[in-house]
Amino acid sequence: MKITEVITHPMKVQLETSSWTAHEISNVATLTLFEVRTDEGLVGYGEVQGGPQKIICELATQYSDCIKGMDPLAHLDIWEKLFASTSPRPGGLGDWDGLPAPLPRGQRPQAMAAIGGIDIALWDIKGKAAGLPIYKLLGGSRTSVFTYSTGGYYVEGAPIEACAEEFALYVEMGYRAVKVKTGALGLEKELVRIKAVREAIGPDVLLMLDMNAPYGVKDCINFAKAVEPFNILWLEEPLHWHLQPADYVRLAEGSPIPLAHGEREWTRFTIRDFIDSGALGYVQFDSTRHAGFTESLRIAHHAEQRGVMIAPHTAPQIHAHLASAFGDAAFGAESHGGHDRHPIQHGLYSECAHAQADGMVHLNDNPGFGFEIDFGYVDSVRL
Ligand SMILES: [Mg+2]
Repeated sequence: MKITEVITHPMKVQLETSSWTAHEISNVATLTLFEVRTDEGLVGYGEVQGGPQKIICELATQYSDCIKGMDPLAHLDIWEKLFASTSPRPGGLGDWDGLPAPLPRGQRPQAMAAIGGIDIALWDIKGKAAGLPIYKLLGGSRTSVFTYSTGGYYVEGAPIEACAEEFALYVEMGYRAVKVKTGALGLEKELVRIKAVREAIGPDVLLMLDMNAPYGVKDCINFAKAVEPFNILWLEEPLHWHLQPADYVRLAEGSPIPLAHGEREWTRFTIRDFIDSGALGYVQFDSTRHAGFTESLRIAHHAEQRGVMIAPHTAPQIHAHLASAFGDAAFGAESHGGHDRHPIQHGLYSECAHAQADGMVHLNDNPGFGFEIDFGYVDSVRL
């Protein structure tokens, strides 16, 4: 079997309500569907977050030429070949080694996203070629995987405690764990929100806080001590973008709450150092942002060895397969109970693994990731 082509389908939807995290505003939802075709008619699908979508799609077209004719089951060869194109290298100027010339530094995140989209699609092909769902291909047996709902995005003009109603609804829907956006307001206002959410969900539902990097170490230790009475399972992405494993170690020494990190890291090499630092309780690498399913598996194996719980970021239709295969080493998958947050995720698939009323993601037995793509929907929101 040989790869014939990589095709991308960039999609964009205007959201009805704009909302914020501590980091950024969302007024549109975007997603790029990757399609890898083969000479035997097998087609694999992957998806990536991130942008600019135009650059991701242009890189995917370049990468399509690089891997045309390769065996789609040789996912490691393909990953390493494409990853090599992101670095300066002897013989790499002017396309002399058969790869594109080294990328501009600013395009590295888009390149890692394009590699991710292709890699996920290759795993989909592998499952289809084997006639097995990915979780079985990896040796997993669990068909239901624990999940939680993220919410509590900030809406301008809404009362501070408004998100409590949203979380009560998630619990009614069956979720037994939820994650609240925090960090955008001052500590006093955040305490009002978090208290309201804890009261709305009751004492038994697990509660995590997603901070989106608003603090330095000292202020974050104060924050952690202040929210401790609300029984918080983890503080996610607590520190500013430039702070590194050594800073997380100092935070972990002062924080009574375990730390989660990883969604913004591009490769296993930086994640390795966060895991090895001992500061993390949970690792959250995202296949659909950077580097694909292969890299997530490498990270998951390392985390398991180091006793750090695997808690992948979003895309439960993909990451639940990984969580299934890692058993008790995985916390589960992340879902969004509110479909208005990312309408493309809900329109794109006419069939895929998703959260159900028992607070679990249920995997189907279709080969690959078990997706059915609704191309009518894709055409309706195509960029
Ligand atoms: Mg997060």
